Amino acid sequence: MSAAARGARDEEPTVDSLPKKMKILISGASIAGPALALWLGRCGHDVTVVERAAAFREGGGAVDYRGRVHRTVLERMGVLDTLRGLDTGMGEQSVLDPSGRELLRLPASFMSGELEVTRGDLARTLYEASLPVARYVFGDSVRALAEHAAGVTVEFERGATREFDLVVGADGIHSTTRRLVFGPEERFRRDTGWCVATFSTTAPAHLGLRDRGVLWNDPGRMVGLSNLLGEDGAMMVFHAPGLEFDHRDTARQREIVRERYADAGWEVPALLSSAATAPDFYFDSISQIVMDRWSSGRVVLLGDAAWAPAPGGLGNGLAVVGAYVLAGELATAPDHAKAFARYEERMRPYVAKCQKQGAGAGRFLAPVTGRQLKQRNRVYRMLCRRTMQSFFERLTVRTAEAIELPAYGLPLLNRPTVGVFPQS
Ligand SMILES: Cc1cc2nc3c(=O)[nH]c(=O)nc-3n(C[C@H](O)[C@H](O)[C@H](O)COP(=O)(O)OP(=O)(O)OC[C@H]3O[C@@H](n4cnc5c(N)ncnc54)[C@H](O)[C@@H]3O)c2cc1C
Repeated sequence: MSAAARGARDEEPTVDSLPKKMKILISGASIAGPALALWLGRCGHDVTVVERAAAFREGGGAVDYRGRVHRTVLERMGVLDTLRGLDTGMGEQSVLDPSGRELLRLPASFMSGELEVTRGDLARTLYEASLPVARYVFGDSVRALAEHAAGVTVEFERGATREFDLVVGADGIHSTTRRLVFGPEERFRRDTGWCVATFSTTAPAHLGLRDRGVLWNDPGRMVGLSNLLGEDGAMMVFHAPGLEFDHRDTARQREIVRERYADAGWEVPALLSSAATAPDFYFDSISQIVMDRWSSGRVVLLGDAAWAPAPGGLGNGLAVVGAYVLAGELATAPDHAKAFARYEERMRPYVAKCQKQGAGAGRFLAPVTGRQLKQRNRVYRMLCRRTMQSFFERLTVRTAEAIELPAYGLPLLNRPTVGVFPQS
């Protein structure tokens, strides 16, 4: 498509005047929540973000952004330059066999995309950018929601009951908002059969990890070690079909990792000590969320809560693009019902493509048998060839760009609302 044609499409629809000011509750302060809070706050809405964790959550592995759509949204949010300054600058990744011998080297662009930052840096950047226009409440959660003609009555686990015009569930794969409004998680969660853990660690010096990484595998298990901006971090992905665990029981999750890697060689025994104690330990199943609809009345879902695509499915891109589209539709549609319908219409084909891309993540990161591992490494070798490299890059960028982004005319700067919405 020509730049002119793209520009023309970018022009519709636009916000004529500032929308009616609404009281909006967002549940979840990771990526999707703060991204939406920034836009809604700029539009003049009274925004409260409630986060279950007692304080802002650090941690997580590296996340990447690719292509024009991601770039445009981050630029319009005003965070692109900050994020560029936080780029991990990650270089090559060595793929190792079970004994730790190097088999091949993956080029930087393979994993890191156009812009790579840690999830913690990304979340903090979005949180800080939205602070002037949104109120954050940590250490609380929605307990019950009751919709009526004029709004939604929200009961919290700790805070007083309050009234809102709209409620947005950006509370991740195990969303409480989704459970309360749409039903139990099991109805929507599709487990792929793999799990992921990330945590900070101290990598052995002899690996020489400065600005590069290593990927170790034996059948069904992967360990990634890298040094991102001076901090060593580990990522473990392992095959565990049918594994049941309580997503809020971190002690049990640490035990699961220890059990699953107890007989692993290489540097794994030392890493297990970090997994047992690291304060930023993160663990989950690699799952997708699949739903027929993302809104019901005055409640709408965003990010992983609505459509978790699994790693490799550009979940962080979906979260910020989804926030932009939802805010844009709320600013330009005649009412919230039409806005939610248009948001869904625009996002659904994009989400489907990203989910398709993310579906094979576990199988690719931690092949189950020795034979599959060899096959995966053959694919890696093929992708290292220069011609295949650019083909692979084009493929992932094509998915990241598979949405037309309206301009909406959303305010590009925070208006001086500090003091109007004091931070809790
Ligand atoms: C600490 C952390 C580390 C992560 N690390 C990785 C990783 O290494 N690899 C990976 O693939 N993905 C990781 N993720 C998930 C990744 O951030 C998401 O897949 C993606 O960015 C989409 O973001 P999201 O905001 O929709 O959901 P999430 O990032 O999952 O955020 C959901 C937020 O909602 C909060 N929340 C949950 N329940 C409630 C509730 N009842 N009330 C209020 N708040 C609630 C959570 O604490 C969290 O802050 C991590 C998430 C977190 C929170």
